Amino acid sequence: MQQTLNTTLLIIGGGPGGYVAAIRAGQLGITTVLVEGQALGGTCLNIGCIPSKALIHVAEQLHQTRQHSQGSALGIQVAAPTLDIGKSVEWKDGIVDRLTSGVAALLKKHKVQVIQGWARIVDGKTVEIEGANTRIQCEHLLLATGSKSVNLPMLPIGGAIISSTEALAPTSVPKRLVVVGGGYIGLELGTAYAKLGAQVSVVEAQERILPAYDGELTQPVHEALKKLGVKLYLKHSVEGFDAQTNTLQVRDPQGERLNLPTDQVLVAVGRKANTQGFNLEALDLAMNGSSIKVDNRCQTSMRNVWAIGDLSGEPMLAHRAMAQGEMVAEVIAGKHREFNPTAIAAVCFTDPELVVVGQTPDEAKAAGLDCIVANFPFAANGRAMSLESKAGFVRVVARRDNHVILGWQAVGVGVSELSTAFGQSLEMGARLEDIAGTIHAHPTLGEAVHEAALRALGHALHI
Ligand SMILES: Cc1cc2nc3c(=O)[nH]c(=O)nc-3n(C[C@H](O)[C@H](O)[C@H](O)COP(=O)(O)OP(=O)(O)OC[C@H]3O[C@@H](n4cnc5c(N)ncnc54)[C@H](O)[C@@H]3O)c2cc1C
Repeated sequence: MQQTLNTTLLIIGGGPGGYVAAIRAGQLGITTVLVEGQALGGTCLNIGCIPSKALIHVAEQLHQTRQHSQGSALGIQVAAPTLDIGKSVEWKDGIVDRLTSGVAALLKKHKVQVIQGWARIVDGKTVEIEGANTRIQCEHLLLATGSKSVNLPMLPIGGAIISSTEALAPTSVPKRLVVVGGGYIGLELGTAYAKLGAQVSVVEAQERILPAYDGELTQPVHEALKKLGVKLYLKHSVEGFDAQTNTLQVRDPQGERLNLPTDQVLVAVGRKANTQGFNLEALDLAMNGSSIKVDNRCQTSMRNVWAIGDLSGEPMLAHRAMAQGEMVAEVIAGKHREFNPTAIAAVCFTDPELVVVGQTPDEAKAAGLDCIVANFPFAANGRAMSLESKAGFVRVVARRDNHVILGWQAVGVGVSELSTAFGQSLEMGARLEDIAGTIHAHPTLGEAVHEAALRALGHALHI
């Protein structure tokens, strides 16, 4: 006999968008059911943000130790390190387990009913769980089904051809790896594999790596990749893979064909909204390209059907998904909320790291704004020197007329942590004078933020 559950809010997908919406809804006393087909935490906790940063950390530790074993200016002497990748993956899985069980505990604490299974939409108020003979009826349906890797028809995943998911659970480190795609996922993983000891090449169709960002910002990453021995094939396109000879065929900018011998090919050419396979078509929702179109409250074209996170398009980032999830729960609880952030930080955990918050100089110019742009290099920052990393800079973009800050960008060691200060200054409508008038602790990388604002005002102290 079919079981029918009734709930106020039904969430499909337990990634950062869905589980945060569920926790907030639980806090607000909304009866909530969350359906997850795979594992709580979604892409982010299981096969995305967290495992990638764990693998990057393992790779960095190995790389540093190897450098010390080859003679270190710091006076540290160690023997050449070895790597037990199985143990590294076990460590990474331990972090994932702790975080996903934490999510399960939080959902339980907030009285969210979690159903393990694949949801199939019947209509805007009814969902079935595949193979479970369960039907759920709801007042509000929140779609949070995330995204999937984009596949290339000439490089189907399998065997030597892998996606980021397989790259995050290696059983061994390949001798040679070609990464197809020079965006943040390809470069984060490519850098990690190079530090783990693979000979890494990156094939990118555009003329520079991280093509979403400007050349000044990406240059230190480009230089560091070269120093690490990563070969960059820019303006090259992929034609196919010959499994007999283990060679990737690419075409150079002149149209000449190149064969790149490799043991593995990592396809990292982007992600697309996950709209297939759960009868979403039944709702006939308005689309925005391949993602679901939502308004400034994440409402779809159907009343009381909401969509958040990667399913609702760019920027496909976990912190955006979480913020949208929290907001939708509050809207359903009757609060007046809108999703209207001044800025959403984008961070690349490359080496050096890169962070962009708000408008870049090019974007401000394109918007017709007269701006002051100022940089402060880490080469003049004591903390960066003590971290053996003088590459990179902090850049500020502010309106010339009233000095309101429009954007921050930084590239350098550890700059991901500066994204918090950048985001806060933009949300609070800070002017250059606010940052210049704040005492920044010494010695920190944050002093470069202070100095960039001072420099924009024409009186930097340390340059
Ligand atoms: C390698 C990698 C590294 C990344 N690094 C970062 C980073 O450093 N910072 C960052 O902000 N973002 C990063 N991201 C992106 C981030 O993971 C996503 O933006 C985020 O997970 C989106 O959250 P979401 O809730 O929209 O969807 P997801 O996390 O994709 O979750 C969707 C969930 O829905 C479930 N689901 C789908 N269909 C159904 C169905 N029919 N029934 C039941 N359940 C269903 C899925 O199983 C999944 O668990 C990374 C992604 C990858 C792949």
